[in-house]
Amino acid sequence: MNPIYFDNNATTAIAPEVIEAMQPYLLEHFGNPSSFYSIARCVRRAVEEARAQIAGLLGATAEEVIFTSCGTESDNAALNSALEAFPDRRHVITTAVEHPAVLNFAKRLQGKGYRVTFLPVDRKGQIDCAHLRAVLADDTAVVSVMHANNETGVIFPIAEIGALCRERGILFHTDAVQSVGKVPIDLSELPVDMLSVSGHKLHAPKGIGVLYVRKGVPFTPYVIGGHQEDGHRAGTENVASIVGLGRACALAREHLDAEQTTVSALRDRLEEGLLAACPDSMVNGDRVSRLPNTTNISFGYVEGEAILMKLDAAGICASSGSACSSGSDGPSHVLRAMAVPAEYIRGSIRFSLSRYTTDDEIDRALAVIPGIIADLRRLSPWSPDRGTACWGGSTE
Ligand code: PLP
Repeated sequence: MNPIYFDNNATTAIAPEVIEAMQPYLLEHFGNPSSFYSIARCVRRAVEEARAQIAGLLGATAEEVIFTSCGTESDNAALNSALEAFPDRRHVITTAVEHPAVLNFAKRLQGKGYRVTFLPVDRKGQIDCAHLRAVLADDTAVVSVMHANNETGVIFPIAEIGALCRERGILFHTDAVQSVGKVPIDLSELPVDMLSVSGHKLHAPKGIGVLYVRKGVPFTPYVIGGHQEDGHRAGTENVASIVGLGRACALAREHLDAEQTTVSALRDRLEEGLLAACPDSMVNGDRVSRLPNTTNISFGYVEGEAILMKLDAAGICASSGSACSSGSDGPSHVLRAMAVPAEYIRGSIRFSLSRYTTDDEIDRALAVIPGIIADLRRLSPWSPDRGTACWGGSTE
């Protein structure tokens, strides 16, 4: 039986249509898009067509789309450029729950003498815009707040945040790696200056990303070299992957409605089924302002790693919010920032679905997961049934 893949926020399967679109650029059309002759001109046209497809999904114009190597590079490039644009401004604002691509870049800035404000989140994983307004300062160069959180799926109010930044003449970047293709984004309406995309989160290959930079926003390249990407990002283009990302964006546009209806209905059925069948379980994060494909569920008194191993043995791929993304031990920075109670934080599992998830997979998962949790609980020294409910204190 095929494994059940519930880890689409980690990476997605490449869509068959994407592979088909890429193949000619791997097998036949090998020209360098910067070259003059005709076998290269057709490659250049394919890159530009992909740029237009990506712009179409985002409500942007093609000239605002810069190809990068991944979401991480897009995030780093956006922050770097904002600081280059305002060299006298030494303050940066972000959140405590960003992906390491932003979080660790911001921490490095602290080491270079910048002041960095890491906005806290509440129990639902949401930030408070009044708090943001209060910390905006005359020397704030950039605010970087993710559009949707990778662990909980919580969606942040980027329209409101962007408006606050605009009032103060501060650049606003959003890491939309998890939201692009899952929820509608119209950059012709949103007050966003820069936005990051990663191909492998929306059924395109790994190793291709996009940085959207609004027309008129000053941009200094991060990767220096040749004149590719209109001087915005050096390096010979990853043509096949660019073509694949273009096709993936066109497909995502076609499937956007289904994400909100079909995918979210499957997610809700999984979530409600697990909450009903597993006592002492709860959803982490705002259940309303949330990506349609994601649920992060804490199963109290059990270890996430143990759950994952049992799920793997049962052919179910998911991921644990209890493992720090840096690979070190301890609960994730996101769940800690949300102050998830000690007895729940270690047993958190993220299930992230896609348009390829089926009803049958949800049935199969619901048939096995409650038994796995019950078995682990019976063995757990911390289970309240055993009268030793203690996780050893703090969740920090
Ligand atoms: N930002 C977010 C929110 C992510 O979830 C990820 C990947 O998990 C990244 C950035 C990094 O993207 P990439 O893997 O393309 O570097």
